[in-house]
Amino acid sequence: MSSNHTSRKYDKGLVELGDGLFAYLQPDGGWGWSNAGLIVGEGSSLLVDTLFDLALTREMLDAMSAITGSAPIEALVNTHANGDHCYGNELVPDVDIIASAASAAEMNELPPQALDALLQLDVDPVTNDYLRRAFGPFSFGEITMTPPTTTFTGRHSLQVADRAVELIEVGPAHTKGDILAHVPSADAVFTGDILFIYGTPIIWDGPVQNWIDACDLITGLGVSTVVPGHGPVCGLDGVEMVRGYLMWLRDQAAQRHAAGMSAADAARDIELGDYADWSDAERIAINVDSIYREFDAGHQSAGVIEQFALMAELANR
Ligand SMILES: [Zn+2]
Repeated sequence: MSSNHTSRKYDKGLVELGDGLFAYLQPDGGWGWSNAGLIVGEGSSLLVDTLFDLALTREMLDAMSAITGSAPIEALVNTHANGDHCYGNELVPDVDIIASAASAAEMNELPPQALDALLQLDVDPVTNDYLRRAFGPFSFGEITMTPPTTTFTGRHSLQVADRAVELIEVGPAHTKGDILAHVPSADAVFTGDILFIYGTPIIWDGPVQNWIDACDLITGLGVSTVVPGHGPVCGLDGVEMVRGYLMWLRDQAAQRHAAGMSAADAARDIELGDYADWSDAERIAINVDSIYREFDAGHQSAGVIEQFALMAELANR
């Protein structure tokens, strides 16, 4: 599933995208290695997302300090409730923190201490090892969850000094309250985890159709610069890659659901083909389970521990 325009290789750190826009990138884009953005106006800035822990967020804010010295961060947007996009919020004090109402509610369900607890679990050696490889590099203990101060549903327009930013709610999809941050004057959009580039998307919530619709909405914006939640900066070709995965996966899951296969067995059975070289391919376990909920409202999803155990199994085969 290669793309003509998007390179798989990318560097860590702050990248200038032009037009006063910056992305902060963290290869390799796997579990917890998220991207953030900075939209700079005349004398003030908007930060799009913080990172998974305080040390990483501090490092990012230091990298941005040459810019934010003369254009201080006046507001922060959280694209969704996953910790790798909001656990660093406390390091941006005294600013308006904006998110969808659904994301604000979801942040209460996933405090940093829950991630710490996941790391302490003793499930089985394979799952323990998987959890520690995914979440062990981060430090959750000292984080004070700092929630949004402004919430909205649908759309929310704001000004960063002279420039307009349009926040567009597209969830529930990846999570319950995903939003995009569109900057029309720069032909750019920060998508949060609606896009994983060369990494396997995770469908925590769905429905997958909302996510496909979100891809179509991004394409309709006609932007030239797309900053994903994980992976390298791309163009609309990156949106097409993710849309293609979602369409393909829904079709694969539907065939197996119709044949009476369990969600776990379907995840084991699906041949990844072109998608096998996207990182974290084992997330198909969570994705098939979420799609099964759409096919059958009575479908009982596995618990989080069971889902991680299945991902560990798939990652090790
Ligand atoms: Zn993320």
